[in-house]
Amino acid sequence: MRLDVLVARGAARLARAGSPSARLDAEVLLCHVLGVDRTWLYTWGDREAPRLERARFEALLAARAIGRPVAYLTGEREFWGLRLATAPSTLIPRPDTEALVEAALARAVAPQGRLLDLGTGTGAIALAFASERPGWRVLGVDLRPEAVALARCNAERLGIANAEFRQSDWFVALTGEAFELIVANPPYVAEDDPHLSIGDVRFEPHGALVAEAQGLADLLHLVREACNHLEPGGWLLLEHGFDQAAAVRRALVAAGYGEVASLHDLAGHERVSLGRQR
Ligand code: GLN
Repeated sequence: MRLDVLVARGAARLARAGSPSARLDAEVLLCHVLGVDRTWLYTWGDREAPRLERARFEALLAARAIGRPVAYLTGEREFWGLRLATAPSTLIPRPDTEALVEAALARAVAPQGRLLDLGTGTGAIALAFASERPGWRVLGVDLRPEAVALARCNAERLGIANAEFRQSDWFVALTGEAFELIVANPPYVAEDDPHLSIGDVRFEPHGALVAEAQGLADLLHLVREACNHLEPGGWLLLEHGFDQAAAVRRALVAAGYGEVASLHDLAGHERVSLGRQR
């Protein structure tokens, strides 16, 4: 069977199974099996699919059809133009989070400084920032040792030398350390959010998504604790849900931060809030 026919059939199967991105999913999975990129696939779609690859593609389609995220099946996802290894123990990096990277870069005007990324997961935010600011030292921490290992492996694969990773339950292993910038994409989804039972999130680690107090518990904890680890004039930047900005700003003001604000994303939602250490 020709490769383009294989993709079309795979896409139809995934569409029937309810994938919102069936065509793209089928292309990405077949490219993964063949070890090629999508441009190659568009150019050589009239070639015959080798049998072994066809069987492997069918197996991936079956896994995708029951909902497994493409990034877990291929073991990678692109973020900020970087190819990151992914694993089911960490959240899949999302394009939304690139807004947090942009906001951090906009505040990293000095040639040198230290940035802390809390709950780093794959290392996405830390590595994106580090790749843009070679003069800065970046530290990513995560509660889960598997995440720390994965983030280190990503740094190595990408040849990013100014980012290091360490196991820490938020600030616990960071006594006495201070940073010019602290960023986090913490868990912020409410336990009873219906969005948790649809799509890729069903397969992602609950602990990376869900927080108590209607999703606010970790955000509020980080607001209170970050004051003890920011240099004077340093910034705390937090990603949160589209309806949490007011609560996060109130907490920032109550904790004594200055210049408290939320940033709008392209869709007009306030998904990042920030405050400055006085
Ligand atoms: N934005 C993610 C989602 O809604 C949640 C990420 C997070 O909790 N940090 O799927």
